[in-house]
Amino acid sequence: MIEVQNLTKTFSIGKEKLTAVNNVSFQIEPGEILGLVGESGCGKSTLGKLLVRLERPTEGKIFFEGKEISNSSDRHLCRKIQMIFQDPFASLNPRMTVDALIREPLVVHRLPVGHIVEELLDLVGLPKNAASRFPHEFSGGQKQRIGIARALALKPQFLICDEPISALDVSIQAQIASLLQRLQKELNLTYLFIAHDLAMVRYLSTRIAVMYLGAFVEIAPSDMLFEKPLHPYTELLLASIHLPNPELERKRTRVFISGDPPSPLHPPPGCPFSTRCPKAMPICRIERPKLVQIGEGHEVACHLYDEL
Ligand code: SF4
Repeated sequence: MIEVQNLTKTFSIGKEKLTAVNNVSFQIEPGEILGLVGESGCGKSTLGKLLVRLERPTEGKIFFEGKEISNSSDRHLCRKIQMIFQDPFASLNPRMTVDALIREPLVVHRLPVGHIVEELLDLVGLPKNAASRFPHEFSGGQKQRIGIARALALKPQFLICDEPISALDVSIQAQIASLLQRLQKELNLTYLFIAHDLAMVRYLSTRIAVMYLGAFVEIAPSDMLFEKPLHPYTELLLASIHLPNPELERKRTRVFISGDPPSPLHPPPGCPFSTRCPKAMPICRIERPKLVQIGEGHEVACHLYDEL
């Protein structure tokens, strides 16, 4: 459904150049949920905005169902790719009723509204009378349900979910995650699910891509990534998460990644993770490792696997 080839996005900051997305290539199959994880500032959201064309690429190409859309403003294609935003508080206009918020994308695209507001409210688990109310009358979880209904109004095929649960209370996160999972199955949707909560990404995703300083460092089917992570950064990310089983959590030593990621304005030479990697070798500070296939659907960018 989606093919990305050598996608790069740079921003000018004064006289300097910030590379937010650095030569990224991948595909997403129809019906797949690709999880995208990494620390904040690693370029995940910029990549999402490039796919929904809120940003234009500096280099590289994006294809949707085989058609290049990198710089397209085709209205029909716009409808097929939609985004769910991280902050339901900021993404809904407080002066509009829920009815107006959900019907707005249809009005903009000059499409008939019919009973779609009622249908969408029902689909996302909100009562019919929600339509006449304003966003401030709802809880965080309910606001995100409104955001999801709005994103579905144009009947998209591909949804970019940009940390859709991270701003919510922990007790609500699982409800919204299972709503997204149900909608994906019922409506046969394809997702790019951006998050920093690895446990949630595993629960939802078919495959997971790990991003560091604008580039993919590892991509693999979810179970494979959790059972046999290859990249030292992925290993550290997994070692730093909470285990749901309290007994296992008590027994193991949690490891945290030391230091902060380098500024994307001044990335280190060679491997971008070399300044924090416990396994760094002399070559790591000179030569940037390429993303190479190690096993079935498992790719990694690390010099530890050069000889395999
Ligand atoms: Fe660590 Fe070197 Fe691999 Fe980079 S290439 S992750 S520095 S071992």
